[in-house]
Order: sequence, then structure tokens, then C-alpha cells
Amino acid sequence: MTDKPSGPLGNSDHVYADYNATTPISNCVKKSILEVLSKQVLNASSLHRKGQEARKILYDARDNIRSIIGIPSNKEIVFTSGATEANNLVMRGITGFQHVISAIEHPSILNSARNPHIIPVNQEGIVDLLELEKILSKLEGSKVMVSVMMANNETGVVQPVKEIAEMVHKFGAICHTDAAQSVGKIEVNMEDLGVDLLTLSAHKFGGIAGSGVLIFDKNLIIKPIIIGGGQEKGLRGGTENIVAIAGLSAALKNIPNLLSKADEIKELRDQLECELLNLASEIKIFGKNSKRLPNTSFVYMPRVKSDVQLMNFDLHNIAVSNGSACSSGKVEPSYVLLAMGATKEQAQCSIRISIGPQTKPLDIKKIVDCWYDIYKKNTLYM
Ligand code: PMP
Repeated sequence: MTDKPSGPLGNSDHVYADYNATTPISNCVKKSILEVLSKQVLNASSLHRKGQEARKILYDARDNIRSIIGIPSNKEIVFTSGATEANNLVMRGITGFQHVISAIEHPSILNSARNPHIIPVNQEGIVDLLELEKILSKLEGSKVMVSVMMANNETGVVQPVKEIAEMVHKFGAICHTDAAQSVGKIEVNMEDLGVDLLTLSAHKFGGIAGSGVLIFDKNLIIKPIIIGGGQEKGLRGGTENIVAIAGLSAALKNIPNLLSKADEIKELRDQLECELLNLASEIKIFGKNSKRLPNTSFVYMPRVKSDVQLMNFDLHNIAVSNGSACSSGKVEPSYVLLAMGATKEQAQCSIRISIGPQTKPLDIKKIVDCWYDIYKKNTLYM
């Protein structure tokens, strides 16, 4: 068999290396969505048998989340429109807490937290635990919620969430983790992590965008931020998106299959980095010495702005990203890299390459060749 590029987007020449923005929709998800669509009426609040059918999909999805993400029985599940809403619900729906968040959280945490205390990260992108301890000591006596993402969307750096949760609990505070980028890429087990709240998003592991989950401790009082007809036990108004939730459920069942490919993906990512490092001594890979997601590489190309790199990659039919997709379109330096002590130039000239189960060795070669082409054209002969 020839080693054809993956072309998860249906075009065999296309190299998709932007899995952290969104993953290709898994075949099992498509199948499940089509089956559910054929039911035609899907309101889980209706009392008639059609409503019961829709409710059954919700119950099954909850069961799948519980077993695959290892959710303890004292935790509740609420379906949301995605990780953004789940994170907003944590920051805005639970009141009376002082917020402590890391400097590299997703904007859905950064911009919804109220006057947060910021935990810095070190040069390798890891949350400074000593600083966290200092902040927690200072706040002792007040109600505190700490939110630290499990893995960063730009660098892939994985945080010591279990250790963080232990420390947070010692101070009598509560701990949330945004696991949107981790689910389907590394093992995520809520019981093992010991956190009180956890966010996930379907389109980061083969589901469709517009579906996410917040898992939270039953003792917490959450006020809805979307107020409506009492759906989701009053926590989130609006008729549930049963189609997307069925997709999320199917995507969850496929997680063991995704995780079984993690070593292969890491090998390809490491090979990519090794080849890039051989091409230019000035290159930098952020968070390289940290524990990272197996699929992510945040690469600095000296003096070439990330949007120029991105457009050139796109002309070569290769999809990469300049950091978080949410801020694509604006060429602002990556705040994640700045928080890690990178220079403004480094933070403006880095791109994220994020691969996945459909990436093939030939894709890596194409990315490396293209990267060098852009580098030569924009720097060597200037
Ligand atoms: N948190 C993290 C870490 C993310 O990477 C993203 C998506 N970029 C989100 C939250 C928001 O997810 P959603 O698209 O489901 O709102």
C-alpha cells in the first residue's frame, strides 16, 4: 500500500495538522448522528414516547461519560453547547468564590473569571506550584475556586492537575480543570485527578462542535447562565441538542481506539520536531521538555510572522494554526508564549502543528519540506 497523505477532509492531497482546533468527525459519530436524525422528533422534555426515546439518548450519553471519564458517583453531569459555555458556567454560575486561574487558561476562563488571582507558569509552560501555594495561603479563610487546564491548547503542555487538586483541597478550596484538549489524546479520569469540576468538548475528540459537558460536585450550588424551561435539572435552559449529544456519546465510546494510537502519533510528532530542529539552529519548540500531549508542537520560525507562515502552509494545502483558533484572524502575539517568558517576536512567529490518528509519515515529510521552504524564502535570502 502506498503511504498516501491522510486527507481527513476528503482530499487526499490535503494535510490536516490542526487537530487542536477541531478534530475530523469520526465515522462512528457520523453513523450515530444519522441514526438519531432519522428519528425526526427529538425533544427530551416531551412526555410522550418520542420524548422518551430522546431522553434515552441523554441517559445513555450520561452513562458513557461516567464510565469513560471515570466520574465518581458524587458528581453530576450537565450538557452545554461546548467547553466555552461549561467554563463560563463554572466562572459565572458558581458565586461567592475568589477565582484563582493560571496565566495560560483558554479565553473562556480568562475572560469570564472575576478579578482572578493569576498563577504564573515557568518557561516550560508548567504552573508554578509554589506561587499557587502562596496565593492559597494568602486567601485562607475565604471561599476559593482554582481553575487550571489539564493541557494547553497551544503548547500541549500537561499540567500536574492531580497535585494541584491535592494542594487546593488542603487549603479547603475547590478545583476545576478544563480537560477540553486532553480527552481523547491522553487518559482522563476524573476520580484519579481528584478535581471537583471538569470541562470537556465533543469536537476535540471526534464529535461535532456545539456540544460539551460540565461535570461538577453535587454539593456545589450552580445558578444557570442560560435561563429557560428547567432543562438539565434547571442548570441549563433550552431543548437539549440530542443529535450533537448522541455524537458526543459515540465519540466517547471511541476514545479507547483514539488512545491506542497515541504512541504512534507521538512518534510522528517527535520525528517532525527532530527534523525541524536539524533544519535551523534558531528554531525553538515551546514546552519541549515538559510532559505534553502526544500530538502537539508549537514551533518558532525566526522573523516570520505566524500569519505569513500559516498562509504559505495553506497555499501548500497544509492546515496548521497560529495558536488558538479562537484568536485566529488577529495577529497578536500568543499570550501563552508571553506567559512562558518568550519574546514578543517569538510569540508572533510561532505556529501550532497538531496532528492526529489520521496523520501519516508522508504528511510529516510534507510539513517539514513546506516549513523549510517558507523559512528559506523568508529568512535565508533576505
Ligand atoms: N478550552 C480549551 C482548552 C480549548 O482548547 C477550547 C477550544 N479551542 C475551548 C475551551 C472552547 O471549546 P468549545 O469550542 O467547545 O467552546
